[in-house]
Amino acid sequence: MPASLCDAHNSSGEKSFNYMNQDDWVTSGKMGSRDAVLVFRTNILNPKTRKTLREAKSIRIDLQNREVTSSSSTYVSVEKLPICSDRRNQLKATLNSYSSCDTSVSSDGDETTKYIEKKPRTKQKQHISVVEIESNLNKESGYDSTMASQSNTDSTTSEEDQDPSSEEDNDCGVNMPAHQFQITYKFIQTETKLLRKIFNVHGLTEVQSESDFNLLWTGVHMKLDTLRNLALYQRVNHFPRSYELTRKDRLYKNIERMQHLRGMKHFDIVPQSFILPLESRDLLFAHNKQRGPWIVKPAASSRGRGIFIVNSPDQIPQDEQVLVSKYIVDPLCIDGHKCDLRVYVLVTSFDPLIIYLYEEGIVRLATVRYDRNTDNLWNPCMHLCNYSINKYHSDYIRSSDAQEEDVGHKWTLSALLRHLKLQGCDTHLLMLNIEDLIIKAVLACAQTIISACRMFVPNANNCFELYGFDILIDNTLKPWLLEVNLSPSMGVDSPLDTKVKACLVTDLLTCVGIPAFSPEMRSFYTNKSARQRSSSCQRQVDTTDSSATLRSTKTKKKPFGLINLTQEEQRILRSARLQYMRRGGFVRIFPTEDTMQRYGQFLDSANGIPLSTPNVQGQTFQALVTQHNYNQMLYSNLFCHGSRCIKDDNSQESRIEQYERALETDSEISFLKKQTVEKCEEEGRRLRKQLLKKIGSGSTLTHFQARQTFSLYLESVLRRLTQDPKDSHEKIILKFLNKYGGGVKPPVLFRNTQNISKARSAMVAKLLGDFLENYKRDTEAYVDSFDHFGMIPTSVYSLFLMHAQESDLEAVLTHHTNITGIMPFLYNRCGLSVPSTPPIPSGLYGFLRALPAMVSSSGFSRDVSKYDGYFKNYDKNCENIRDISLRSKSTKDIK
Ligand code: ADP
Repeated sequence: MPASLCDAHNSSGEKSFNYMNQDDWVTSGKMGSRDAVLVFRTNILNPKTRKTLREAKSIRIDLQNREVTSSSSTYVSVEKLPICSDRRNQLKATLNSYSSCDTSVSSDGDETTKYIEKKPRTKQKQHISVVEIESNLNKESGYDSTMASQSNTDSTTSEEDQDPSSEEDNDCGVNMPAHQFQITYKFIQTETKLLRKIFNVHGLTEVQSESDFNLLWTGVHMKLDTLRNLALYQRVNHFPRSYELTRKDRLYKNIERMQHLRGMKHFDIVPQSFILPLESRDLLFAHNKQRGPWIVKPAASSRGRGIFIVNSPDQIPQDEQVLVSKYIVDPLCIDGHKCDLRVYVLVTSFDPLIIYLYEEGIVRLATVRYDRNTDNLWNPCMHLCNYSINKYHSDYIRSSDAQEEDVGHKWTLSALLRHLKLQGCDTHLLMLNIEDLIIKAVLACAQTIISACRMFVPNANNCFELYGFDILIDNTLKPWLLEVNLSPSMGVDSPLDTKVKACLVTDLLTCVGIPAFSPEMRSFYTNKSARQRSSSCQRQVDTTDSSATLRSTKTKKKPFGLINLTQEEQRILRSARLQYMRRGGFVRIFPTEDTMQRYGQFLDSANGIPLSTPNVQGQTFQALVTQHNYNQMLYSNLFCHGSRCIKDDNSQESRIEQYERALETDSEISFLKKQTVEKCEEEGRRLRKQLLKKIGSGSTLTHFQARQTFSLYLESVLRRLTQDPKDSHEKIILKFLNKYGGGVKPPVLFRNTQNISKARSAMVAKLLGDFLENYKRDTEAYVDSFDHFGMIPTSVYSLFLMHAQESDLEAVLTHHTNITGIMPFLYNRCGLSVPSTPPIPSGLYGFLRALPAMVSSSGFSRDVSKYDGYFKNYDKNCENIRDISLRSKSTKDIK
């Protein structure tokens, strides 16, 4: 055991994770080698750890020197660091307190073996394991990972020393290999708070470039062109045609096809469903056979938007395409509340199929106690478990401590399993059935995705995907698949959420493997990909790797079991094994030891592809698929007896045990605190007066400013609706949304209901929240950061928005609207003319009451008074207002 290893031990004899060692941030291969990928950990989300890392700048290890010494597994000892003794003691203390993940490096004869071991995070839970036995794998595959390291020439940059005053996260990231390798990420239409934080502290840099990124994380489907041009080292978070799984209607059709082809008993995993209006007759027929209720969902929507429940099909409007599913009337309830599960499923490859299920998931509870009585079907806070709906209910309880996993209306999966186990339920069977449901759903959709990958994805590891599976468990403990979410929410608004999602994301990134390529290696592979693309549009097997393999196998003895494998098969096997070792909290559910016994019948016997369309066999699909059977090959090599394959601890028992353990992290992950500025009422009032004066004397708000004000105003109204519901205001909001909400409309039954309750308030708030979200997104298109002549200066306006109360916002909006004659939500960028808005009388809630009556098709019509009589004195008001408001001549930007 080298001395360096002893240095890494803490006083209790346990091994300490040394986060200042560059090698601890790279795994699966030596730094600079082709296999090396970045390691992501949650413990540097802890501010204390980050502080130490930032301060450690001066003791960074030069990458090139590191490369030379890494083969002897040198550890950087705190004792040997050129720092004063106080600083050393401080560092040691911090190191000891953040030893959630252990690393040791040892020399075993001439084979270097590196472990980042499974070790209890706490009493309850074992930490993620990454066991890396490089030399064994290299021997088996015949690949020499040091060969590629030759490309790692000058990877250190001076950048990290340049900007001591940059943001805290970036500052911490500069010590990371990712920063030194200039590894970049790009976001497209996605929630970014958690992800950006994780990327930045690990040293990745955000870029805007269309093609020059290492990791592309998008919230939407990938453009095929982007996919086609991916280089070997690039990763994207979607597979092509993933919508086969993630669109509710496609998912159902794919599973229905499997029911016909393979038998209902195997694929009875989704509630019976119909796509309307096409299958209206079938729905009627089914309803006559077995009466409702039915749950109606827009085909391509999420977060409970537009969902309602009916007793009979004749209550379903026929004007839009919807998915109508049998409503499961006997759901599993916790303390009388209906609940459903969000579990996270990672697919790293479709051929061969490799599926992981994250050890922890989230259980969402409805706020109102469940009651089968059909009078309550209108109540979304009883029948729908979406957080996005229930969070608006005033009885909704959030757990405020990451350790409280069974408190309030959001639990963890492991807490639910422990709770059920205590009640004598068979949680083992439940989790096996959930695994089975996930595998079958993926099998049902895989064929189309595989053919798309063959056509559009140039390299085997370019794509990965994290799916959010929504599962409802009924009172017999049978799981039902409700839907699969593309880009499951990474939003974090409670410590529990933060803990689960931070662990999920860091484990995901380590597992899929972001190659730790130097810029030189990247340009080499980019050029190579371009050359290959010009010669063929089909996926290329990486021949550099293959020829390297070939060469090395000439001199080395082939390990048992690999004798008949092609180079591509060896690459797949090796990659699957390395990935499995980096899996962290992911549990591999396909392949497992009994995969072929359970699912072999659904795979094509020749090529191993899960076929869902018999007529395609032998036709187009076959033409695209070369004759190989990667599923069979991988299975045989991972689970064959007597081979030297690494024994995996993936038995049913250990999988179930893992799901039941609480997810624990030693480090506090804190970044929920928003930097909020204390509002100063007086300042708000002062600025409001100043602004009203400016507007009165001819200055105007830009579109962007007016829309920002309107958003903030609606946010205040929304807050009031949840905290202090007012019936009349709910009605106004409903009328407004009915007229202007676009896609955000109250469901039919809800519109008719006369019930006044907390649940109704929650529903109105949810609709307003959805509208606001869309509105804010659209507002981004109006951003204008320059000050123009005749406009309110940006700095003054930002200050106003910072301090304004609801009444201040209302006053400014009223004045602005009376002058321009156009409500902020009616601005459009296509130059469409909008009938002018009737004048808004001032006074408390005047603007709110005027909202639904703003414009009717013929301008200000007599219909207006019908809404709430607010404009009865319209004519009189109008005259007065016309007199006082100098309709500004300088409102060019509004036209
Ligand atoms: P969304 O994508 O809008 O969240 P889901 O399909 O996940 O739509 O459904 C939303 C909620 O409705 C779920 O949380 C679940 O509680 C409830 N739900 C959906 N389908 C059914 C069903 N067939 N039976 C009972 N409840 C259902």
